[in-house]
Amino acid sequence: MGGIIIIQKCDTCNTPFKWAKVFKANWFYSTLDCDRCGTEYKITIPSRFICATFIILPMWIYGLFLSPFNNVFITIVLCIAIAIIGSLFTPFLVKYKNVVQVTPYAKGCL
Ligand SMILES: [Zn+2]
Repeated sequence: MGGIIIIQKCDTCNTPFKWAKVFKANWFYSTLDCDRCGTEYKITIPSRFICATFIILPMWIYGLFLSPFNNVFITIVLCIAIAIIGSLFTPFLVKYKNVVQVTPYAKGCL
């Protein structure tokens, strides 16, 4: 690898989101809140596609073309394992956007 992988930070207080929290949000909730300041975030549409790509595509390619097993059960289990492994990377790739609308006026008051 060698590249620097950074999980998104909170726009408001600059606290990095925890990997496990983003991971869960990617799978189940599609929303996040900052541990420190409580600002709410929602996954962006392109990020949904990234998640789907990383989870479904490797599984699909494997299931259709690469499985060396004739056993359907083993193939399904491996597909699920591949989906989980693929999804481990999604917290580094997705972007969440702040759902609280901050107007320029409100910002000026802080
Ligand atoms: Zn925050």
